[in-house]
Amino acid sequence: MIDLHSHTNESDGTYTPAELVDEALRRGLEALAITDHDTFAGYDQAVRIAGAKGLDLVCGIEINTRMARSENGRERTWSIHLLGYFLHEPPSLTFREWLFDLLESRRERNARLVKKLQSMGVDIELSEVEAVGRTLTGRPHFARVLMNKGYVSSTEEAFRKYLGESAPGFVHRDSPHTVMGIQQIEAAGGLPVLAHPVRLGVRDPRQEEDLISELRDAGLRGIEVYHSDHRPADVERYAAIAKKFGLAVSGGSDFHGDAKPNIRLGTGANGNLNVPCKVLQDLRKK
Ligand code: AMP
Ligand code: FE
Ligand code: FE
Ligand code: ZN
Repeated sequence: MIDLHSHTNESDGTYTPAELVDEALRRGLEALAITDHDTFAGYDQAVRIAGAKGLDLVCGIEINTRMARSENGRERTWSIHLLGYFLHEPPSLTFREWLFDLLESRRERNARLVKKLQSMGVDIELSEVEAVGRTLTGRPHFARVLMNKGYVSSTEEAFRKYLGESAPGFVHRDSPHTVMGIQQIEAAGGLPVLAHPVRLGVRDPRQEEDLISELRDAGLRGIEVYHSDHRPADVERYAAIAKKFGLAVSGGSDFHGDAKPNIRLGTGANGNLNVPCKVLQDLRKK
């Protein structure tokens, strides 16, 4: 069994890179990809430890992107998560610099988010959120602070009442265009893969195929067929789409540690996941 989608506490997970490596070994994984949001800091720390302990560690990243596209004749903005796998070469310096710009845009958004929350009467300072999230402070860390201070009792409630797109505290962040994300990953020597396609929320299978084929035409090379959110019917549908469009197959739990306690490394939600080693062998051939 392998797991090609996981997060450390360098992004919004709760396990340190070393703890994540230990958890992978404890659960008997043959390979693990660290795919933190917008940073390689977790991978950089884990790679030496994994090497010493004999775990096959894959360098990865997850980038939140946006794309405007019409659905049933109406223009809609899609939030599209891309995974990048650096299977043969380390990510280029140019790519790391691009990530730095993404960090900057989130930091700037965070300052506006704090002001907005304060204007709603919430007692919160940027410094206390950054103490939790450090380099990659984002909305999940705001959610944790709101919970710790008793404003909400769950992450879900924090997003519903304060942080989510339809919540009163929401402030916009400029995320990169999906095509730009695909191109940046490719140019840096990575394999661009569509993360958890089920979360796109396209109900009509025809439209879902159209969207994925459009991404393929823009340079997408793979699709996450196996994921904790995917039901057996989803896995079957995405495997067929991968075959039809010549996309590589990927899969992982999207483990976030205690931030998403129902998801376990390797086996996903209630044991619904078991990604075979062959998936990584085929990815490496791409
Ligand atoms: P940010 O990039 O700082 O805007 O935060 C985005 C992250 O927040 C995503 O990667 C998700 O992990 C998390 N997130 C977004 N919406 C929700 C939600 N409704 N409930 C829980 N987590 C969410
Ligand atoms: Fe996350
Ligand atoms: Fe994601
Ligand atoms: Zn993820």
